[in-house]
Amino acid sequence: MAGLFDLTGKVALVTGANTGIGQGIAVALAEAGADIAAAGRSAADETVGKVRGLGRRAENFSADLSSVGAVQPLVDAVLAEYGRIDILVNNAGIIRRADAVDFTEEDWDAVMDTNLKTLFFLCQSVGRHMIARGSGKIVNIASMLTFQGGIRVPSYTASKSGVGGLTKLLANEWAAKGVQVNAIAPGYIATNNTAALQGDETRNRQIMERIPAGRWGDPSDIGGAAVFLASSASDYVQGHILAVDGGWLAR
Ligand code: NAP
Repeated sequence: MAGLFDLTGKVALVTGANTGIGQGIAVALAEAGADIAAAGRSAADETVGKVRGLGRRAENFSADLSSVGAVQPLVDAVLAEYGRIDILVNNAGIIRRADAVDFTEEDWDAVMDTNLKTLFFLCQSVGRHMIARGSGKIVNIASMLTFQGGIRVPSYTASKSGVGGLTKLLANEWAAKGVQVNAIAPGYIATNNTAALQGDETRNRQIMERIPAGRWGDPSDIGGAAVFLASSASDYVQGHILAVDGGWLAR
């Protein structure tokens, strides 16, 4: 059974791997045996150290994913260094908060560019490589706001709803080519992304009261779902958005 989840010899490209959920996923994939290409605008030195401590290979790849121009140089660099990409985790993402009536075009574009546009073109570039090899696993990081509306985060909701749609579209196109495309929708996870919510006493209490598990999630809580969707255990899972949310959506 353990073999189903074994990632030994696989190369995983994880974006935004220096902290938070990306770090949790990178470490979990390495625990399952994968080598890690850690991509982001900040060097993922801590993550690289943790992965190497597990006996797996890890390298930093500098990439500012706010612009699509970063995509092909990143993919080329990872392929030059590792020779293959078996797993792509599109985790890098940002959030901007303001009332819808005040929301700026800059905050719209910044979030859509990083969370959706770059994600699609990374899927496209790595997907071409995976299709040529006849196998690959893509895991996109969605959100509760792939399913719900949220409040004061219009571009984030639009981007994460888009991630859900794209995940299904790519699954439809690539399922028969040996490439599985799925997503994880994290619930409320304690990271930099949610620091403002954690720091707001009222919102924090409201959120905690609604989570059946009774606690914020930890980045490590996402690791098992990522290993599942990156491994042959999920070979017949396609276009699925797996909520890892302490029961939030069930409420
Ligand atoms: P985080 O701690 O803020 O991490 C975000 C990651 O994305 C960081 O590594 C960040 O790099 C990277 N990133 C942002 N903009 C980038 C850019 N232009 N180029 C390269 N890398 C960039 O937040 P997180 O909570 O772990 O978020 C990870 C993903 O999970 C995001 O897609 C987020 O939307 C999603 N998510 C989070 C939650 C939650 O409750 N925390 C819930 C649902 C979904 P820097 O450190 O350099 O900024």
